[in-house]
Amino acid sequence: MKKTILTGLRPTGNLHLGHYFGACQNYLKMQDQYEFYLEIADVQALTDNFQHPEKVRLNVFEITKDLLAIGLDPAKVNFFIQSKIPEIAELTIFYSNLVTVSRLERNPTVKSEIGQKKELFGANGESITYGFLGYPVSQAADITVFDGELVPVGDDQLPLLEQCREIVRKFNSIYGKILKEPQQVLSSTTRVKGLDGNEKMGKSLGNAIYLVDDLDTIQKKVMNAVTDPKKIKKDDPADPSICMVFYYHQLVNSKDTVSKVCTECKKGKRGCVQCKKELIEAMYQFLQPIQQRRRYYEEHEEVVLDILEQGSKKAKKKATQQMKKIKQAMKIDY
Ligand code: ATP
Ligand code: MG
Repeated sequence: MKKTILTGLRPTGNLHLGHYFGACQNYLKMQDQYEFYLEIADVQALTDNFQHPEKVRLNVFEITKDLLAIGLDPAKVNFFIQSKIPEIAELTIFYSNLVTVSRLERNPTVKSEIGQKKELFGANGESITYGFLGYPVSQAADITVFDGELVPVGDDQLPLLEQCREIVRKFNSIYGKILKEPQQVLSSTTRVKGLDGNEKMGKSLGNAIYLVDDLDTIQKKVMNAVTDPKKIKKDDPADPSICMVFYYHQLVNSKDTVSKVCTECKKGKRGCVQCKKELIEAMYQFLQPIQQRRRYYEEHEEVVLDILEQGSKKAKKKATQQMKKIKQAMKIDY
């Protein structure tokens, strides 16, 4: 029996290098060995984009194309749309009895995301909605309705997985041992920083290089990336550990090139402009095959729709079976 993987992405924008190195690289490695459910989390995206339904809808298709472009194989991965599986919403309601409001308010991921969304939720989170506060509960439902055992994620998701395991333990202690405690699978790069030096490159943070960015866009973004502020002249020595340009060299370049960049930078033998130009070229080369594959799906929207339709059918079947067990355990199997 193959183990089951469940993971998800919010259709709030295109995929960026943070997704690729923080999470998607692991999807690629894992797609051959496991039963894989990949959720396009439109319901979760609506929790903080409820006033922009057109944005969420557009990005369901955009993000699916991005995921296919990186090389995920729809014959191995079940791509599905969260809202097409109403069992997730149903299970979220059942789980909402098993978690306290104060525990959700203390969840570090929820806290930091409320802090980033002041316009929507108020300076101190005083306008937080019931839906956004409860999204970790819906994420626990996402994972467990597919009997998910492994969850490849970036490290910003770890508090959400911990919350999911707590819900599982509580459920099992009351209704019988039905659910598995899911485990995270982290990449070697657990969190990719933003161009602005922010600790996270994020779709909603405006500091990302997207997989769809063309050469001109990459150039503009990299030229504005944060470098060592003490380096004024071209031949001043600098500290690569605080330079975002060096940081991205490490992601997209070979070990040999990275060590050359590091040594030259420390010795003052490399100007920032040259260093940025080399990074732009390396990023462009890295993104080329992805963008080429994506073109096929851009020209064949019907293929993308069919992949989502077929994947959602398989996901629905799995969720229906699991819900039957859960309802029996909860004595609501009328
Ligand atoms: P949003 O700001 O709308 O939440 P996001 O950029 O955080 O968007 P998600 O769809 O929430 O993207 O995350 C999808 C997956 O990508 C998750 O597993 C998350 O941990 C991972 N991820 C997102 N950004 C990064 C990053 N900068 N570094 C590592 N992993 C990341
Ligand atoms: Mg996120």
